[in-house]
Amino acid sequence: MSRALLAANWKLNPTSAGAALDLVRGVEAAARERQDQVQVAVFPPFPWLLGVSELLADGPIELGAQDCYWEASGAFTGEVSAAMLKDWCPWVIVGHSERRRLFLETDEMVARKTGAALACQLTTIVCVGESESELAAGEAEAVVSRQVRAALAEVAADDSPRLLFAYEPLWAIGTGRNAEPEHAYRMMRLVRNHASELLGAGAAARLRVLYGGSVSRATVGSYVELPWCDGCLVGSASLNAGEFSAMIEIVAEVYGAGRGT
Ligand code: PEP
Repeated sequence: MSRALLAANWKLNPTSAGAALDLVRGVEAAARERQDQVQVAVFPPFPWLLGVSELLADGPIELGAQDCYWEASGAFTGEVSAAMLKDWCPWVIVGHSERRRLFLETDEMVARKTGAALACQLTTIVCVGESESELAAGEAEAVVSRQVRAALAEVAADDSPRLLFAYEPLWAIGTGRNAEPEHAYRMMRLVRNHASELLGAGAAARLRVLYGGSVSRATVGSYVELPWCDGCLVGSASLNAGEFSAMIEIVAEVYGAGRGT
């Protein structure tokens, strides 16, 4: 039976190392109890990665960074390379909409990050999604297709077991609004169709596709039960250990009832 993934993007939170460790400790019991059905990965800010990695050791929770740079070293002040992360932080997120929108990352930059992260053997979550105005203009499919195909230009079929896409409509991130499961389903299927065309059907079946955008305990079940959905990328709700633990339980119930078979 396959497992669902719940990936916790902490963004610029929490503001102290102690609070980061407390957050992990608060989720540990649910992650351990449900590890057969749910894979849990947390993505703290860079300064907390080392402390959290020591705490996680061989435990049930996996660790990732929220971004990386494509060059391995050099005069790139402020950047952290995929190569620097690889020995102790096996996951990374690239192309989050906040990076694209606030820090002006282009499809090409996200593609270079994707290629560098995969070349360093990092399990890589590439975020894609349309804005509210793009949705209203009927451009959601075109935007997501462009983003997915740009990233896939730097991916080989062999990378697919370590590649994930997170479909995250911008209008659902941090807003409390949720995409209708039907909309999420169509967009996640679109992602996999592009992967199938560019990497082949076998590779497309091996990569994973997540949904993200204000997912909470009230909504997580309606996404993970979708056929094209391998889990969720969770922002705000992952900062509350009780809420995130409840989400692990709910996803485990869905997978335990046969969704992951
Ligand atoms: C995110 O940051 O990827 C995200 C989905 O955030 P939120 O759950 O808060 O909408």
